[in-house]
Parts: sequence; structure tokens; C-alpha cells
Amino acid sequence: MARLILKPGREKSLLRRHPWIFSGAVHRIDGDPGPGETIEVRASTGAFMAWAAYSPSSQITARVWDFSESARIDVDFFRGRLQRAVEMRAAVLNPSRTHAVRLVHGESDGLPGIVVDRYAGVVVIQLSSAGGFRWRDTLVELLAEITKAQTIFERSDAEVLQLEGLAVSVGLRHGAALAGAVGVEEDELQLLADVEHGHKTGFYLDQRDNRSLLRTLAPGRAVLDCFCYTGGFTLSALAGGAASVLAIDSSADSLAAARAHLELNRLSGAELLEGDVFQVLRRLRDQARSFDVVVLDPPKFAPTAALAQRAARGYKDINLYAFKLLKPGGLLLTFSCSGGLSRELFQKIVADAAVDAGVDAQILRWLGAASDHPVALGFPEGEYLKGLLCRVAPRARRG
Ligand code: SAH
Repeated sequence: MARLILKPGREKSLLRRHPWIFSGAVHRIDGDPGPGETIEVRASTGAFMAWAAYSPSSQITARVWDFSESARIDVDFFRGRLQRAVEMRAAVLNPSRTHAVRLVHGESDGLPGIVVDRYAGVVVIQLSSAGGFRWRDTLVELLAEITKAQTIFERSDAEVLQLEGLAVSVGLRHGAALAGAVGVEEDELQLLADVEHGHKTGFYLDQRDNRSLLRTLAPGRAVLDCFCYTGGFTLSALAGGAASVLAIDSSADSLAAARAHLELNRLSGAELLEGDVFQVLRRLRDQARSFDVVVLDPPKFAPTAALAQRAARGYKDINLYAFKLLKPGGLLLTFSCSGGLSRELFQKIVADAAVDAGVDAQILRWLGAASDHPVALGFPEGEYLKGLLCRVAPRARRG
């Protein structure tokens, strides 16, 4: 078996159970491992550190499968990890609440580069590491065994594949072919997940709890849903009794899907607007429009830490306009799903936006992904979705 030897002192993050070994920490590799092959990781002292998957083309040279020397990375290892992940969801998520669940959340479930989502009888696997790719067939077989899914579909087409030197891999891997979008129920709403073409694996499962929060805040209120995609927040607002929803997205296809969602759930009161949120917010401001609740759920402006600076300007801009559009006492649900942007920085950006908008605001709640998107304690990078529920003071400050 090939062996990776770390530079002196570079075992510290592994001792804290962080699963990534960056290329800069590698002293040398003995042997000639192929992409995704299991390698042994040792400190410069020779001490055993971990079993990991080798990623020759990535800046993350290896991702840890297990920290225990006695572990064996084989079918039973993956069966155990998958079962553990599935059991966690069964323990914390009420199955009568939703048919759409993230079953495996990568590193945070001890399965780096492996995401598995379930939409009723359809399971979607999304791989983003050489290790995941190497074990694809095993993972599909095990998922068929464990979940009894009618269909297993692969959606390994995330942007990060390029950085990993991996080719897109999409298609049916087990069972019956997909027949259009998959229907699921969540909090008594009918949802359609376009597993084949939709964002991520078809739906934003991570926002489940924030959708249900909006639902409780919505009664009688005028809601603005920015970056609405297929209308997740819009549906929840209307189901909760919102007086009106204005939903904005730049994608006509997403808005068509949102319209289908509204019809499927027999919900009315939403206006769907195609446009660039940055421009529409300014226009609404010029028209002196105002709202009781604004949702800002933009796409990833900062996929990496290097792009955080530029992204910060984008976040500041939309939050500034959202604050200006909120009535006194109004509520802002604002999110960032940029892995490269910390919670602290995001909060600072929102605070600066409030100052520039001339409003006083409080944080009522820190928001994040639902519990089927856990964050391993040793892997803070797992917390990609950050949000704030803010309330604008009842009377705006002068000036
Ligand atoms: N809130 C959604 C997910 C948002 S995903 C949900 O809960 O399901 C981000 C969305 O922003 C995508 O639908 C994309 O089409 C849209 N988008 C990206 N840039 C945009 C822009 N500048 N203006 C409007 N929409 C944009």
C-alpha cells in the first residue's frame, strides 16, 4: 500500500480530526497510488495518522476515511458509514414531515466528497472527490441495499470537479429510469425536485428549517423573496398566510418551475418577476415600495476564500437595499452559502449594510442548514450555509 509522509509538524490538523491533507503538508509519497486509491498517512516521526483517499490532481492531496490504524477501507467500511448516516437522519428528522432528506453530507458524515440525497423513492448520489469516484459502484450497490430506492441517479457535476481533475459523471446507476421531476412532500407542501437538471441534486434541502421559520413569520405580511429559484420560500410564505409575495429570479426556467409549484399547491398571491436582483432592488427602492419581510438567498458569490473580498461587495449591496425596502419593524432573512465566507464576516457585512441604509437592526436568530446537513466538530468548513434573522427597529433612524 502506498504511503504519504507528512512534513514535520503537519500532523496537527489530523490530530484534531480534520480530514484534509493539503499538498503543502506532504513531504513525500512512497509508491505509485492511482486516483482515489487508499493510502496510509504517517507523520514525519513515522507515527500512523490515518487511512485516506489519494487525489493527485487536487490541492487537497488526500482526504481521510478513518483515523484508526485497525480500520480497513472496504465494502463493510462504507456500509457502516452509510448506515450510520442514514440512522442519524431517522433519529432526528420526523419522517412524516418530509420525503426529501440529505442522507450523507460528505466530510461531516465521515465520507469526504460523497453527498447522497433522497427524494421519496429516488436516491441521488453526488461525488466530488477521487476517493468517491473510485468507490462509486460499491456506494451505489450499498445504497440500493440500505435505502431500497427504486432509482439511484448520479449527479456528479459540481463545479469543484474541475479543481479535482475529475470528469462530470451523470446518469442512471440503479433501478428504474427517471420520469421527469420527482414529487415529494415537505411540511404538507407538494414539491417537485428536478433530479436530472435542477440545482444541486434538485432542491435546496438545506433551507428546510428556514422555510418553516418563514412560514411562521408570514401571516398577513408582504414578502419579498429574492433569488427565489423554484419558489421554496415563496410557497412557505403563502402557505403560512402571507398577504402577498414578490419573487425574483433571473432564470426564466426557475420561475416556470416556481409557477408550477404554486399551481400544484393551489396557492395564489405571488407575483413572479424575472430580473437581476441587484437591479430590481434599486428599482423597487426608486418606486418607494416597501415590504414586511425580505428573504435574500443568493447563489454562492464566494466559492473559495480567495474570492471572499469581491463577494463581500455583492452581499453588502443586496443587504443594503433589503434594509432600505423594509418597513419599520420589518424582518430580514439573509443568507450566504459561500464556503469561503465566515459567519463572522457575513455578520459584519450585514451590520455595515444596515449602517449604510440608515437603519437600526437586531439579530433575532442565527440561521443555518437543517440537521440533515451536520457539521463535524473537527471540520468547521462543513458550515457553508449561514444566515441571520434580523429585525429593523420600529422607527427608522433619521438621516
Ligand atoms: N432560494 C432558493 C435557492 C436560491 S439559488 C430556494 O430556497 O430554493 C440561487 C438562485 O439565484 C438561482 O435560481 C439563480 O437563478 C438566481 N440568480 C443568480 N444570480 C441572480 C441575479 N443576479 N438576480 C436574480 N437571480 C439570480
